[in-house]
Amino acid sequence: MNTVNQITLNKLLNSNYLKTRENNNDPKLKIGSMLYHILEDKKFLQRFDENKDNFIEPKEIVSIIKKQFQHLPENTAETLAKGFMKHYLQIFFQQHPGSIKNYKHYDEIVNTVKQLNQEYPNFTEIINLGKTTEGRDMIGLKITNPNSKNTKKKIFIQGTMHAREWAPAETVLNIMSTLLKNKDQEEISNILNNCEIYLLPVANPDGYEYSLNTNFMWRKNMYKKDGKLIGVDLNRNFHIEEKPELYRLPEDKPDRTDDDIGASDNEYSDAYRGSAGNSEIETRNLLNFIKNKKIDAILDFHGFGNMILYPKNDKDKVKTYEIVADKMNQSIGNKYWIEKDTELYPTTGTMISIADALGTLSYTIEIGSNFFPTKNELESLKEETYELTKTFLKEIMKIDKKIISHYKNTDTNS
Ligand SMILES: [Zn+2]
Repeated sequence: MNTVNQITLNKLLNSNYLKTRENNNDPKLKIGSMLYHILEDKKFLQRFDENKDNFIEPKEIVSIIKKQFQHLPENTAETLAKGFMKHYLQIFFQQHPGSIKNYKHYDEIVNTVKQLNQEYPNFTEIINLGKTTEGRDMIGLKITNPNSKNTKKKIFIQGTMHAREWAPAETVLNIMSTLLKNKDQEEISNILNNCEIYLLPVANPDGYEYSLNTNFMWRKNMYKKDGKLIGVDLNRNFHIEEKPELYRLPEDKPDRTDDDIGASDNEYSDAYRGSAGNSEIETRNLLNFIKNKKIDAILDFHGFGNMILYPKNDKDKVKTYEIVADKMNQSIGNKYWIEKDTELYPTTGTMISIADALGTLSYTIEIGSNFFPTKNELESLKEETYELTKTFLKEIMKIDKKIISHYKNTDTNS
């Protein structure tokens, strides 16, 4: 799992530029210790919170490093600073237990999905939601017992819509393989007789790869404008014509940023909602999938926060939302905090709020306590997300289709 172009880095490290400084302080060491200082700071991870003012973005780190190269032309200093940032981030990840080595690249994830399909050809089917901005396929797996003629609930489970949230991809993969491994256990067999489960480990493959390879703090997709990377927060880009206010509140005008609520019109914001609702191909693929498949219920895994969130839109369904959330939480020892998502902080254009408006019972699950869990943390996250999902599936099976779906009068076998 190669993360950074080592040759480029070696070139940078041996570069003559570094030898031009006439002092005893080796700039390599100086920059290294400075970056370590930034990264080791426990508060650093807290700064990932997009709502905090002191959030340090990579471009700010780059500018800090650039100061070490004041004697060089602007472009050269920038190139060097970016190279150093990559290099030290790689070392940081190698030396820290929450190492990048715990995480698969997107093609490895897709291969794992394909292997499961080959291992369990009768119970699985590869699904492809469509191409991403950079042309990757959005690949997942459908799991069900094809021999059961019961009317089945349709469940969609996804991870890593936000690029830097790596753990959800691994946990969704684990849910896939564990369900299949246990398919003959009575409780799982019962689930697979009554549910069609669609699992998508990575909803934002382009951004995920960019986060693994280049900028570990990247959150958005890879939307470019005039060749320049801007990125849209996919989880602020969802829109349906029937309820435009779920994408943008009427008082939040598109041409200004000082009135932003729930998402931003500032292209450089981590919560940029895009130029219009559903402007992004990944958003459209996901929305079309949910509509076409007539999905009954959704689990959207994010990292981090130990929270179960549900949309506040539908007052009729609040009771159902609460009951299912409580059951999920009980299954993992009430470890999580349950919250209506907009009470935490206002959000617009999220997948669960739009899916909810379509009649789908939809939860966001914020797993874990940091963006890049250690190996041990990841293992316990896999266990708890599997337990939670199993409970979710059992609860959804019990619910009358009239309550959770607006598609109740349509053919459910499509
Ligand atoms: Zn997220």
